[in-house]
Amino acid sequence: MTEVTPQPTLRLSPDTQALAANWRALDDLSGGGRAGAAVKANCYGLGVETCVPVLRDAGCGTFFVAHWGEVAAVARHVPPAQIAVLHGPLNESDCAYARNAGAVPVINSLDQAERWRASGGGLCHLMIDTGINRLGIAPAETSDPRIAALDIDIVMSHLACADEDSVMNTRQRDAFVAVAGQVPHRRASLANSAGIALGPDYAFDLTRPGLALYGGVPRAELASTIRPVARVEAAILQCRGILPGESVGYNAAFTAAAPMRVGTVSIGYADGFLRLRGVGNALHHQGRRLPILGKVSMDMVVVDLSAAPDVAAGDWLQVPWDIANCAQQTILSPYELLTVIGQRLRRG
Ligand SMILES: *Cc1c(COP(=O)(O)O)cnc(C)c1O
Repeated sequence: MTEVTPQPTLRLSPDTQALAANWRALDDLSGGGRAGAAVKANCYGLGVETCVPVLRDAGCGTFFVAHWGEVAAVARHVPPAQIAVLHGPLNESDCAYARNAGAVPVINSLDQAERWRASGGGLCHLMIDTGINRLGIAPAETSDPRIAALDIDIVMSHLACADEDSVMNTRQRDAFVAVAGQVPHRRASLANSAGIALGPDYAFDLTRPGLALYGGVPRAELASTIRPVARVEAAILQCRGILPGESVGYNAAFTAAAPMRVGTVSIGYADGFLRLRGVGNALHHQGRRLPILGKVSMDMVVVDLSAAPDVAAGDWLQVPWDIANCAQQTILSPYELLTVIGQRLRRG
């Protein structure tokens, strides 16, 4: 029996050349250090299956995930010893999992340090908080015997305001230099994407870009370097003619002033096409702008086909997902614009 698979009406095709180029550019900008890659949250929505092999082949050798549950998908493509788990071991089962999988925990507290040692210890990373107050031990805790007992590869901290010109940046950098000197380690790491743009003083041995790999531009210095990666397309499900006075979509938010041809397109809320992407925005077909009419109506939007009389049901439209650009035009952060990309886009 031949298997018949349903044809998708939505697709996400990351520009893998742009992704590789972004990693190489960020690696070059990392001074004497190397760039790793934050691949948590399914590569910020763009897909581990697609992105991790590209990053690996570009030369990346250190991969950061947040949850233990994210390790397995990444480990299909890279040696598990190259995977760092940012949330660290919360219980014995996390320690057992780390050992079994061969992934390396980031130790964030004295409790985690003790737990890791009690489970047998071994190579780990250490997060030191220098002001973001999110995860990590306090600088004063570095003298604790539970930290002295660790075998630390990467000592790291995370910048709170790297996307701004803030006194926090130099303050955190100075604090990191002081504290990193107090714990034996192999590599030091401070900068996320925006931190890389702050210059080689922030690069240390390893940088940890996430957002900029995937096309985000957290600081103007990166604007000419970083290329967009996310490419989203959605198919037209149906075309129809509407008459003056007829309305479109939820709450009849658009009413036609003249006869017009409209197309119903397969993208909506569950795909990450949020309410604020409706009115005032457009989809595109071969460079032609097709304004969105009315509200996003659950799984669909309706566009004005006046500029593209030739398109028909089944044709694909480009959905703008240039996050550097979108983020300026909406109240969404670029992190949100990427990570809301829905699961249905990755099935095809
Ligand atoms: C997510 C994360 C990064 C990547 O940050 P971007 O701002 O996306 O470049 C780096 N380091 C840590 C600890 C993170 O949690």
